[in-house]
Amino acid sequence: MADIVFRNVTKRYGNTLAVNDASFTVNDNEFFCFFGPPLSGKSTILRLVLGLEVPDQGEVLIAGRPVNSVSPAERNVAMVFQNLALFPHMSARDNIRFPLVERKIAEAEIEKRLADVSQKLHIGHILHKPPAQLSGGERQRVAIARALVRHPVAYLMDDPISALDARLREETRVELKRIQRELGKTLIYVTHDQEEAMSVADRMAILENGRIRQIGAPAEIYDRPASAYVARMLGSPMMNILPSVRAAGGIEAAEGAIRIADAKAPAEAIEIGVRPEDIKVRPWTDQETAGGRPGSPARVFEVEPLGGYTVVTLAAGQARLRALLRGQPDIRPDAMVAISCEPGRVHYFGQDGGAL
Ligand code: ADP
Repeated sequence: MADIVFRNVTKRYGNTLAVNDASFTVNDNEFFCFFGPPLSGKSTILRLVLGLEVPDQGEVLIAGRPVNSVSPAERNVAMVFQNLALFPHMSARDNIRFPLVERKIAEAEIEKRLADVSQKLHIGHILHKPPAQLSGGERQRVAIARALVRHPVAYLMDDPISALDARLREETRVELKRIQRELGKTLIYVTHDQEEAMSVADRMAILENGRIRQIGAPAEIYDRPASAYVARMLGSPMMNILPSVRAAGGIEAAEGAIRIADAKAPAEAIEIGVRPEDIKVRPWTDQETAGGRPGSPARVFEVEPLGGYTVVTLAAGQARLRALLRGQPDIRPDAMVAISCEPGRVHYFGQDGGAL
């Protein structure tokens, strides 16, 4: 078992609480992501796992063993570096052998591990090539192989693909997910890209100023964010969150322009949230005026056709909302529309931003 556990871990730099009372368990063989904005504490968590930093408070355990006073070398956790740096003058083979040669491991053992990792990562046929002759995906595999020949209990990656262009990033993350699944080894992965975190992680932790705000499977967090902060962190376009007030039979937002007829809506709610894909938009008709159908009036402010889907920005009272519609619906700026949403798809947030 190579699970990694933090128990109430705090790390300060001067007055900065880089990691603030963090508790989590990364399970054996899990692809676990830390996701948060810059300076939220992601890299500090990795350094605490590696042993490059020691907690001011709390405890780090690797495979059941407390490691606060264990050196990085003895922890046996491998870092795969940010730019996947490989030595340009060495073949893939020599790059992978390097950490073992450096540790003066016996030649027969080195060759055995090299054969084993090459087979697992399907790179046997490219071992003779220098990095410059490898594709991005091949370089990635070689860099991971170099980390894995040490037989680490887990490997870590700090925003490894942020430098790549968008298309290559998409390909690379699919590749990474596959590699991790095939290897079945614990991977802790840091990213500031929500789409990347959602696409690769088995589970993820969302950070804000050194604090873990929520831990769970991406879909679970997306559907049931624990707070308005977390709700805003996942999803593009971002969740519409509007100040709200209690009204007869439900809740109102946008100075009454949006009404949610939900008698069970929590009375303490001060904000409502609706995902763009949960907003239904239809043309305004006379029936609406007669109050025959449940929809709030809105004016189309702008339309962004993005091929497979269209983002429509709506003005309801003083509020702006974004709706995500399938395909390329015939909607023009300045048209009046009726907007609605299933009551079950509305999120409610209280005074402290927590979900209700
Ligand atoms: P992230 O990886 O999410 O960008 P970091 O873990 O690098 O965040 O940083 C968290 C906080 O700790 C930031 O406020 C950062 O300025 C501070 N910090 C990180 N490393 C150091 C350091 N070596 N010395 C002083 N402050 C640091």
